[in-house]
Amino acid sequence: MRINDNFLKLPGSYLFAEIDRRVGAYTREHPERDLVRLGIGDVTLPLVPAITQAMHQAVDEMGQPETFRGYPPYRGYDFLLQAIVEHDYRARGVELSPEEVFVSDGAKSDCSGIGDILGTDNLVAVCDPVYPVYVDANAIAGRLGNYDRQAERWERLVYMPCTAENGFSPAIPDRKVDMIYLCFPNNPTGTTATRQQLQAWVDYANANDSLILFDSAYEAFITEPDIPHSIFEIPGARTCAIEFRSFSKTAGFTGTRCAYTVIPKELQREGVSLNELWYRRQSTKFNGVSYVVQRGAAATYTPEGRRQVMEHISYYLGNAKTIREGLSAAGLTVYGGVNAPYVWVRTPEGTGSWDFFDRLLREANVVTTPGAGFGPSGEGYIRLTGFGGAEATRQAVERVRSIL
Ligand code: PLP
Repeated sequence: MRINDNFLKLPGSYLFAEIDRRVGAYTREHPERDLVRLGIGDVTLPLVPAITQAMHQAVDEMGQPETFRGYPPYRGYDFLLQAIVEHDYRARGVELSPEEVFVSDGAKSDCSGIGDILGTDNLVAVCDPVYPVYVDANAIAGRLGNYDRQAERWERLVYMPCTAENGFSPAIPDRKVDMIYLCFPNNPTGTTATRQQLQAWVDYANANDSLILFDSAYEAFITEPDIPHSIFEIPGARTCAIEFRSFSKTAGFTGTRCAYTVIPKELQREGVSLNELWYRRQSTKFNGVSYVVQRGAAATYTPEGRRQVMEHISYYLGNAKTIREGLSAAGLTVYGGVNAPYVWVRTPEGTGSWDFFDRLLREANVVTTPGAGFGPSGEGYIRLTGFGGAEATRQAVERVRSIL
């Protein structure tokens, strides 16, 4: 019996463990200090009434013999699939069939699990900085070779730098890559991609037989009218892309768990439909999302649910604006925060990510996330989020301004 030794190659959950260690050490030294946490990636507002009402009703249905339900359909209940197709796609001019949508318990499960249906010798490309799940999931599957601890890079991974110098838009690789992870609005940089930029990726993928894995978990935060919400708004995407969406940040489902993945019927590789392969995979490894949760998710598409959910998004975007404008007025260079809950802040000249993190922790009592933890090109940045309370966010920005 042998273990999957790819796990042993992982550099470890260094980022958040190290943040906890430093914050813990500081609070033990100074228990009287009141820290404001602007590093959090989790939502803080409760589920809106339209969602909890729908879930209460669904619980009651589950307690009655006439309306009780057992295993849900593998793809999700039709009421939710129809709402997704109608409101998330048709309303934006994209035609999808409900059979192209797979409801799941999270975009994390799906963007990592999708590797089950893809060859382990595919060459993977990720943006740098990156949401670490794309990298670790492929490392575990054996696609990335060994990790070079000195260089802090995987041997068989194409890193696509996204920095202020290229407007946080990854350059199209000069060689053939097979699987391309794109996430817009981006975590951690909070930046977006234009229609033209996404078109260039779709054209590349179709020309090279590559697959785009498009994560639009933060789509609901887009405020500017010209920014695409879905890769399927781009002509040609149906033959080269899979899209991951989530109710986590959109509707506060981080603790409730509901998401979905879109795989068009036309998407084939080696003559095989990826939609059918994923159906086969889901029906083997996944037994669906509970009826109660799917009813809650469907409630976000009612007029009342939509209005309530959008109020929460506006609240988080308001915090992002406070951070963006406050830190910019303090002389820092800031990015993102307009179409995303994340603000990506350049550290002062000559200060590394971790040094700036320490300074903000010790002098301003504000917890942030060092950009270096998201990949080599995150060095020289920190990430702040709009997911805190409005008053705490204002206070934190004030404190940062006062020490700069
Ligand atoms: N994708 C990105 C880019 C994320 O930042 C996150 C969560 O932070 C997820 C996916 C995970 O979403 P879910 O809660 O649906 O698993």
